[in-house]
Parts: sequence; C-alpha cells; structure tokens
Amino acid sequence: MLDTDIKTWLLPIEPLEGESLSHFLGRVRRRNYLSTSALGELAGIRGVVTRWEKFRHNPFPSDQELTALGNLLGLELSQLKAMLPSEPMKLEPIRLCGACYGESPFHRIEWQYKSRWKCDRHDLKLLCKCPNCGAKFKIPSLWDFGKCDRCGLGFCEMKNTRN
Ligand SMILES: [Zn+2]
Ligand SMILES: [Zn+2]
Repeated sequence: MLDTDIKTWLLPIEPLEGESLSHFLGRVRRRNYLSTSALGELAGIRGVVTRWEKFRHNPFPSDQELTALGNLLGLELSQLKAMLPSEPMKLEPIRLCGACYGESPFHRIEWQYKSRWKCDRHDLKLLCKCPNCGAKFKIPSLWDFGKCDRCGLGFCEMKNTRN
C-alpha cells in the first residue's frame, strides 16, 4: 500500500546554524509554494505560523505546536527550538550584519537580541535600516531576494560602520 500521507510531500529544508525561525519559515514556504496560513493549516496550528514569522512569541511557542510543525517538516523538536531566542529580544527594528549575510545569506536570531548592537564576529555595528535609502528591513521570512525592498541594494553590499 502506498503511503499517501500528504504531510510527507513537503520538500524538506534544513535549518542553518543560528538561523531565526522567521527566516527559516520563509524558506520552507517559498520552497513549497505555501502561504503562511496554508503552512499553519497543514501543521494543524492555524494562525500561529503567521505570528512566529513576525517574531510574535507571546505566548511563547509551545512544545506541542513546535512538534506539530516538526512532524510536518520532518524536524526534531530540538532543531526548531534552536531557532527560538535564548535571551530577551526586540521585534523591531529588524537588524542585520551585511558582512555575515555576505558569507551566508540568512537572518541570525542573535541579531534581534536586546543585548546585541554589534556583530561580534566582524566587530561591526548591526544595521537597523538600509544605509543607502533609510528603509526599514522587512521581517526575515520575506527576505527572498536578500536586498533592500525600496532601493534594491543587496544586503551583502551594505557596509556596516565600525562602532
Ligand atoms: Zn557579522
Ligand atoms: Zn534601500
């Protein structure tokens, strides 16, 4: 008998080390041509995925919700938990280090930590808006092109200033 469980039909996406859940969810959805509501529906956690993509973690994602998503995506609970903040974070502005993005194009959860204002790896101040046109960055789940939404400057071309 064929295994016709629709949940196994999603194309798997591996989380990257340090990647934020919002960015990861955006990759999963684009790869599978799903809207946020469709992904939530499939996982049986309606509405929740949309909130997570905006870093609205209040109430904090429960093990039950994460397990439901993990079952759909073929991921362990621990893999999903690793993409959640481990210290207090700020929802906005969305921040980034252009040098880090140039090395590997994804949004790091640590960029949103309240305590962080610079990238320790590059010793550069985190950007909280486009240095060219001043536009704010969109939520990471919408970073499909990796560039400023308004002027088109690539994130990896954005030079952070030193301190
Ligand atoms: Zn960096
Ligand atoms: Zn711009």
